[in-house]
This record gives sequence, C-alpha cells and structure tokens, in this order.
Amino acid sequence: MWCYCILLDERLCPDEHTSTEILLRQTGLTTTAIETGADAYLWLPKIAESTSAASAEHLNRLLQAHIRAATRRNQAYRELSQANDLLSAIALVDPLTQLGNRRAFDWEMPRQIQVTREQNHPLSLLVLDIDFFKQVNDAHGHLVGDQVLRMFAERLRHHMRFYETPFRYGGEEFVVILQNTSFEEAEQVAERLRRLIDNAPFVVSQRLDLSLTVSIGAATLDIGDDSKGEDLIRRADSNLLKAKNTGRNRVIIS
Ligand code: GH3
Ligand code: MG
Ligand code: MG
Repeated sequence: MWCYCILLDERLCPDEHTSTEILLRQTGLTTTAIETGADAYLWLPKIAESTSAASAEHLNRLLQAHIRAATRRNQAYRELSQANDLLSAIALVDPLTQLGNRRAFDWEMPRQIQVTREQNHPLSLLVLDIDFFKQVNDAHGHLVGDQVLRMFAERLRHHMRFYETPFRYGGEEFVVILQNTSFEEAEQVAERLRRLIDNAPFVVSQRLDLSLTVSIGAATLDIGDDSKGEDLIRRADSNLLKAKNTGRNRVIIS
C-alpha cells in the first residue's frame, strides 16, 4: 500500500509581514514538511475575510493540481509494483514445465529447513532423474523431448500432496521437498512417484507412446546438517547415483 500525503496548513499570515518574509517562511515550512515525510505542503493563508474570491479560486486550483499529480504518481507506483511482482514470478518459474526452478528451490530449501527445526518436524528430499532421457531426444528429437518433460512435470504436479513441493532442478532432473515427512514416509512417497512414471506410458501423439522410468535418491534431514540444505542434497544425490548404478528405475534412501 502506498499513500501520497499532502499537508494542508491553514494559518494566519500577519499583515505586517513583507512578501519576502512570507516567502521565506513558506519555504521553511515546506522544507520541514517534506523532510518529515509529506509528499507536498500547501500553505493556505486564512481566507475568511482577508482573501478575495480570486485567491480562493487560485488555491483551489493548486490543490486540484496536487491531487492530480498524486493520482499520476500512485498509478505509476502501482504499475511498477505489478511489473515487479510479475518479474519475481517469472524469475522463479521454469518456463518449460511451469514448476519452480532451481532458483526457487535454492530459496525455498533453507526456509523449509528453518521451519522444520523451529517446529521439530522431520524433513525429506527426493532427487528424481529420468532414465535414459537422452535416447528420447536422439530417437524423436528435441521438441518431443521437451513435450515429454512437460508431461512428466504435469504428472508429478497432479500427484503431489499438500506437503510435497516439486521443482525442476535442471535438465531432466527434478527435486521434491517433503515437509513434515519422516524417512519411512519419504520412502513410500518416492516409491509412489517411481510407480507413477513406470505404470503408464507418456502419450506424445496418436502414433507415439513412450515408456519411461525414473531413478530416485532420497534423504532425510539430520541434526548435524547445514542450514542451506547442501548436506541433504548431497546425500540424496549420492543415493540417486547408487540407484543409477544398481539398475535404474528404483528408489535408494539413506
Ligand atoms: P541416465 O539414465 O544416466 O540419467 O541417462 P540420461 O540419458 O537421462 O542422462 P544424460 O545426462 O546422458 O542425458 C540427459 C539428457 O537430457 C541430455 C539432454 O539433452 C537432455 N535434456 C536436458 N534438458 C533438456 C531440455 O530442456 N529439453 C530436452 N528436450 N532435453 C533436455
Ligand atoms: Mg541427469
Ligand atoms: Mg537422466
């Protein structure tokens, strides 16, 4: 919320003051008002008897002009603020899959670790990597590869529960933060996601169905882990590597 503050000051203007003294006084009052937070300062010398109708009209026009200036500035401020919100949203979303991107994940992970530690809850992380994805690109082209990544992300998103937040970590790798999720529950969630990919092919077109599998490394936050999540990611990543090296299409958790 943004306010434009016009300070109206109706005070007597002693007759004996010269116009220079009045000007100096007005400048001093304006400076003080602006320094203390007002956007504009208007001195309306008491107009009852001493001021003519023409002067009153003059002051009225000045006030109207200030209100119009305030409206313009307010409009510009609102447009800038909307553009900022849009840019922030764009900066955190992966354009291909519309999932949160790596930057969003890097921002969210320490936040979740902090909340988890304050509330003394468990926290787990899954790292998913599509198996042999390069073959999809090699056999069907990059555009089909892109389409499959979109469908993969969509399938993940549709099967996430409230405590599960997916991100595209990069390429054909995805991560899921599992809030309030213990080691045993994380294993179940990971197995559910593995089956979700394995159980149904990706229907690219009427003539093209692609069966994919995914390898998943999982880990649960330990007391001694760092607050940025690097230890947690490293353990989940190393489990992913084990899943790849022991045949793919499997979950490894430590
Ligand atoms: P592995 O089972 O070992 O993970 O094999 P892989 O083929 O999935 O892994 P590799 O790292 O060899 O290849 C990953 C491929 O993912 C290569 C790269 O071109 C492709 N890829 C990464 N990002 C994108 C993308 O945005 N669009 C498309 N179409 N392909 C992508
Ligand atoms: Mg990979
Ligand atoms: Mg892969």
